[in-house]
Amino acid sequence: MWNSRCNQAVACEILLLTRQLTSRVNTASLRALDAITLARNFAGFVRRKVKCMCVVPFKYKVDFDRYSRNSKNSYGLHLRENFYSNITYKCRSCGKLDIFSAIEQKKAYENRQEYYEQKRILCQDCWRSKRRLLKLAQNLEAEYCRNKQAKLEDLDFLLSWFNTLNEYKKYSHRYNHMRIKFLRKHIDVLLNKNM
Ligand SMILES: [Zn+2]
Repeated sequence: MWNSRCNQAVACEILLLTRQLTSRVNTASLRALDAITLARNFAGFVRRKVKCMCVVPFKYKVDFDRYSRNSKNSYGLHLRENFYSNITYKCRSCGKLDIFSAIEQKKAYENRQEYYEQKRILCQDCWRSKRRLLKLAQNLEAEYCRNKQAKLEDLDFLLSWFNTLNEYKKYSHRYNHMRIKFLRKHIDVLLNKNM
């Protein structure tokens, strides 16, 4: 895990980000939002690197009694090792490497009773974006249901809902295909009416 080449590359990246941050702060036209985004990216980057470099591949013993009924009934369960160890995986959405740590696995399978073969496919950042977009889409759906007729005449509302659902598609295969089609149809109607 700790090797000089890896450390050197990390140091270079940290230096580069620090320089970017400093130069932005020095720019008179700096927008507050820009600075916050950059600072967040920087903090996220350092957190990921520290996690990658410092997490010792620690092992946690599996407590099969705490598995869900589905996991216990699975034919392949007896092939499972008796210990959890860190799993490195590539995010399906952005391609970044992340770690599904041994302790996170223990919590997922034993505390939250997730199925024992369920793996991580999104990195932490993409997973958060996916959750945020899902919540946003649910709020927009609720807003629409409260006043359908008026919302179907509101082009800005329809476009923002349409964009949210399309953005969500980047993170999940299980998106609302019919809703996207429905929105596209009504957006076209409004655009044609205004022409
Ligand atoms: Zn990602």
